[in-house]
Amino acid sequence: MSIIKVMDELLANKIAAGEVVERCASVVKELVENSIDAGSTEIKVILEDSGTRKIEVIDNGKGMDEKDAVLAFSRHATSKIDDEDDLYRLQTLGFRGEALASIAAVSKVELKTCAEDIGTLVVIDGGKIKEVSKGDARKGTAIRVSELFFNTPARLKHMKSLYTELASITDYMNKLALSHPDIRFILMNNDNLILRTDGSGNLLKVIQSIYGNDVTRKMIPVSGENEDYEIHGYISLPEVHRSSRNNMVTIVNGRVVRNLEINRAINDAYHSYKPDNRYPITVFNITVDPSVIDVNIHPTKMDIKFSKMDTLIDLISEMVISKISDRELIPKAFLKEEKEETEEKKPIYTQQVIKLDTKESKIEEVEILDEEIIINDELSLVSEDEEYKVDNKEEKLMPEMYPTGLVHGTYIVLENENGMYLMDLHAAKERCNYERFKEAMGKPNIASTSMLFPITIELTNNEYIILKEHLDLLTDLKFKVEEFGINSIIVKEHPTWLPTNNLEDSIRTIINIIIKEKEFSIEKFNEKVATMMSCKHAVRANTHLTMEDMQALVEDLRNCKNPFNCPHGRPTTVFYSNYDLEKLFKRSGFDTKK
Ligand code: ZN
Ligand code: ZN
Repeated sequence: MSIIKVMDELLANKIAAGEVVERCASVVKELVENSIDAGSTEIKVILEDSGTRKIEVIDNGKGMDEKDAVLAFSRHATSKIDDEDDLYRLQTLGFRGEALASIAAVSKVELKTCAEDIGTLVVIDGGKIKEVSKGDARKGTAIRVSELFFNTPARLKHMKSLYTELASITDYMNKLALSHPDIRFILMNNDNLILRTDGSGNLLKVIQSIYGNDVTRKMIPVSGENEDYEIHGYISLPEVHRSSRNNMVTIVNGRVVRNLEINRAINDAYHSYKPDNRYPITVFNITVDPSVIDVNIHPTKMDIKFSKMDTLIDLISEMVISKISDRELIPKAFLKEEKEETEEKKPIYTQQVIKLDTKESKIEEVEILDEEIIINDELSLVSEDEEYKVDNKEEKLMPEMYPTGLVHGTYIVLENENGMYLMDLHAAKERCNYERFKEAMGKPNIASTSMLFPITIELTNNEYIILKEHLDLLTDLKFKVEEFGINSIIVKEHPTWLPTNNLEDSIRTIINIIIKEKEFSIEKFNEKVATMMSCKHAVRANTHLTMEDMQALVEDLRNCKNPFNCPHGRPTTVFYSNYDLEKLFKRSGFDTKK
């Protein structure tokens, strides 16, 4: 029986037709997903001018016979959906029967496919079948879509720049490769290799193909499970972060999805280890019973909802926190900075260029020798998760180090047998204050002190109204506050954890948080107060410290839960290894006595 079934009319109408072919990336998506459905283990995407001139997808999947090959271009044909319920399952990838028909209507298509031993060639021009004949007997399918929108000039104008088109195709292919490490993908544009994965099933190797060696070395494997979910993946060390959330990839049952709550949970778990407005690189592979999820299918994106969200969020937070809170996170001063990525990911062309004859669409011709795939040996070390491990939980996360001096009253210079450290005085002090304040604020009975000289604070009438509404926030913090004349309050007691110098200024700052924020949760408010106060009461630059002061600060910092970052996520300490120093002075490899 023919594999392609004609979809029930009702079902076809459920899917918005016009949205399928919008841009080059949507064409690539349709074609590649067909290849995945055909069971391909190797999929090659070859573009000319970001796909505007040509998009070619070559796979080694099961292919089609002549009848299916022709039927594939008729509206509402699909081989994947049996009934409506299937739409709500994540078991199949493609589902829009009209996709190929829509693409063929606005371009020139050449399809070469072979299921058994007779190949078929179908040529279509603007939706009209021009030729059906016998073709190559290469197993699999090769489809070439050229001159997209040639007969719809208005659509053509709508296309973004070549750069934008290529960026979105690259982004799509990257995510697809992450969700299918067992498929070998190649993406090329104008003979430049953009992405190549080896199909070995190793997710870390896919990460390396996309982000390069430096980032890959800083990826930590994570895994966890509970009654409903099983999760595996990788997260970046907190020092690796990007300006966009686009590098936080969630895969559910093999398909890349979007879920803002998951992203938020991951980002929150990194709180105070990195700046809040920067985002980590993560790949989370979630396996779940399809009955737990609700998928909102739209041709260009996949939004997903989980009926058991709480346990999923708890599991993810725990996985991230446990991994980043038990390792040494002092960034090395001389590690090459990764290329900063802008919101639109720039495709990188550093990999070698492969020339191929684009007229012949045979997979063998662009077969890439395995030697060419440079897999850094160090990778296996990182994935084993040993390098950063702290053997003894009792041991402090930060190694012992000894101050030797102070630069500009701002940076402490320290040393130990491994090398030299620079510590930002303000950031270090801020972290110590922050943890102390947070601990004090978290106690069930916060101690308070009555003030010898109560402080009156004058407000504008507007500020006064907002503050009066939120006075409980101050009382919860154990301030004793009373109304005092027109638009003024008097503070008679303050929590003991609050340092007594600049008390008025501190109280004013806390009140300003309330007035500015207007609406927030207690946790967010306490967090803000702790962060602001820790900064306010940390030493400023140009401070004189004795050696003893410095030693005490270092010990204080080493006792912190996270000694590596200030509460804003900036590093407290950077490390120059002995080797880095030798390299810096060109001593390595030379006779160091010279
Ligand atoms: Zn600060
Ligand atoms: Zn800070």
